Amino acid sequence: MKSDRDARHKRAMQRKKEYVDGRIAAATEDRGLLLILTGNGKGKSSSAFGMLARSVGHGLRCAVVQFIKGAWECGERLLFEDNPLVEFHIMGTGFTWETQDRQTDIAAAEAAWSKAEALLADEATDLVILDELTYMLTYGYLDKARVLEALRGRPARQHVVVTGRNASRELLEIADTVSEVNEVRHAFNHGVKAQKGLDY
Ligand code: ATP
Ligand code: MG
Repeated sequence: MKSDRDARHKRAMQRKKEYVDGRIAAATEDRGLLLILTGNGKGKSSSAFGMLARSVGHGLRCAVVQFIKGAWECGERLLFEDNPLVEFHIMGTGFTWETQDRQTDIAAAEAAWSKAEALLADEATDLVILDELTYMLTYGYLDKARVLEALRGRPARQHVVVTGRNASRELLEIADTVSEVNEVRHAFNHGVKAQKGLDY
């Protein structure tokens, strides 16, 4: 009885190995990717910073532009901002519902975007994280065509990670990998404060 099951398992695993090996052999391209992490669930920025950690671990040159500055000191910023492999730029305003001033927000978004544009033209930067960029497009703070052009024209080997809810259709169209983080439940909606280390 047991050996029957073991034999079936072995056959299934052999088939699976053939399938996986075939897929690995078919993936021969090696180039810079555009990743988008969108959706309403928690995990977009923290995933982006996970890739930053991986990249820094490999000695890659990285840059982060944060398009919304939260009210608190993020752990990822404290960890990476003095790292010589990481260039950090933070948009000089807080959440748009806190500044409540469209012209101030637009000026800050443009200043941050010019940093991003310079990075997207820099062959020496291996990874660029554009955290919360999508809001700059949904609020109309940045010109979509200009953003798409810089992303498309970047160095061929440069990876870019964009985070934020409601990524626009055009952005999704030019992305290589898109993940939508779906909210199943979030403690904040049940009265729990943002937690150090998990949320910031
Ligand atoms: P994280 O940085 O934790 O990966 P995120 O980037 O996916 O979150 P944002 O919309 O940028 O999500 O949210 C920033 C902050 O808001 C984080 O502290 C996060 O935990 C919290 N948050 C994320 N999603 C939700 C949600 N659905 N409801 C309430 N708070 C949320
Ligand atoms: Mg985020």
